[in-house]
Amino acid sequence: MNNSLTVWNNCLDIIRKNVNVQSFKTWFEPIKPVGLKDSALTIQVPNKFFYEWLEEHYVSLLKMTIRKELGDKGSLRYQIVVDDKKENNPKASLAPKIEETSYKGSKKRVRATGIQNPFIIPGIKNLRIDSQLNPNYTFDSFIEGDCNRLARSAGLAVAKKPGKTAFNPLVVFGSVGLGKTHLAQAIGNEVVTRFDDKTVLYVTSEKFTNQIIESIRNNAVNDFVNFYQLIDVLIIDDIQFLANKTKTQEIFFHIFNQLNQSGKQLVITTDRPPKDLDGMEERLLSRFKWGLSADLQIPDFETRMAILNNKMRNEGVEVPDQVLEFIAYNIKTNVRELEGVLVSLIAQSSLNQRMIDVDLAREVVQNIVQQVDKEITVDFIQKLVAEHFNIPVNKLSEQTRKREIVIARQLSMYLAKKMTDNSLQSIGKQFGGRDHSTVIYSCRSVEDHLETDESYKNEVSKIEKKIAMSINDA
Ligand code: ADP
Ligand code: MG
Repeated sequence: MNNSLTVWNNCLDIIRKNVNVQSFKTWFEPIKPVGLKDSALTIQVPNKFFYEWLEEHYVSLLKMTIRKELGDKGSLRYQIVVDDKKENNPKASLAPKIEETSYKGSKKRVRATGIQNPFIIPGIKNLRIDSQLNPNYTFDSFIEGDCNRLARSAGLAVAKKPGKTAFNPLVVFGSVGLGKTHLAQAIGNEVVTRFDDKTVLYVTSEKFTNQIIESIRNNAVNDFVNFYQLIDVLIIDDIQFLANKTKTQEIFFHIFNQLNQSGKQLVITTDRPPKDLDGMEERLLSRFKWGLSADLQIPDFETRMAILNNKMRNEGVEVPDQVLEFIAYNIKTNVRELEGVLVSLIAQSSLNQRMIDVDLAREVVQNIVQQVDKEITVDFIQKLVAEHFNIPVNKLSEQTRKREIVIARQLSMYLAKKMTDNSLQSIGKQFGGRDHSTVIYSCRSVEDHLETDESYKNEVSKIEKKIAMSINDA
């Protein structure tokens, strides 16, 4: 026996280095080594679910560790403590029956019979369940903007009083890359920091579905459902993947009801509003209406800049404002892409020893989105300037010397010179066949005006931004 203890302790040393503290405490500390025979180490685990969890999540780590300790022939056997009396009969837990199964012999050899509610064992509540949260997804790092204010504050309210607000379930929806996972996990992380005794679990719908399939295969659906009853805050990400999975939805419905009845908090994300979730059971959708559905919208320019600034600080680099603005103009619909551009810009610049400037940013952006290579044209500038001054666009090319028209025409020429590669001659041509000296003259008078009039300067810079920003929508 001593021998098995030594081997297992060596294994634990390796395992400890490979999993986080919480997982280690939850899943490895409760294990008891009970025997070693012919390179087969037998360990005792508290219940069948425990064994399944180890097999599902740590099988390769265990394999690797055992081989390291016991050589290529090394194998692992499990003993599962089976409590087959009523769970509230105290004698039952004093006299556990041992059921043995083999590591190699797959899960089928575990007999499901005789295991009743393995989770309702006295003291099991103290077992920490790994929340599966990414610690970087916090409220602090989730930049607030008009696009997410409601969802963010509802999330914060939920995190402060899980299960006790009207936002239960909280359904966060929005298209890809807008921060659903980040926000949902921020709620989880906030709960973990605020409450010592609350169990949080983050799970993707895919994983949830796989666990259900597995539990059906192992005849352990009840165990599965019971396990989820231990959770105080359950976060299920991308629920749209449950579409058309009838059995999964049925079990989820069951879990949902039980959690709801016991005042537990549910947080759900989806890529579309609940009413558009095709392939979902009506009774499930109607449950979603009990709480709050809050959407994440496309961030506006200011929020995009704030996100970029924040990211830049986190990366510990300086990127000129102009470059950040360029990125924020061009990447509009996806925060993940926004961050992606910044990160690859930083990487490109350090790999190729290039300065981070707008040219480099343009190259990087072009690699990520196809849209950006749309060129700004003289036509487009004319259109936006005319819109800005509220005059018909054809007036810019006519011979009129009306003051407001002249101002708009000169500014359009100036911007055409500045923002496109057109020659002076070609610009003149596009303004009713004027010659290049007229264009030079126009540019000069705009420049003079810019130098002397601060409010004009602001106005021009606004128009310029608008042109740069709208080019991809044109
Ligand atoms: P989704 O789950 O909606 O597809 P994610 O939550 O994965 O989107 O977000 C994509 C990336 O954008 C993540 O790196 C996330 O941190 C970041 N992100 C999204 N919204 C914000 C925000 N408001 N502030 C800061 N970062 C954000
Ligand atoms: Mg996501």
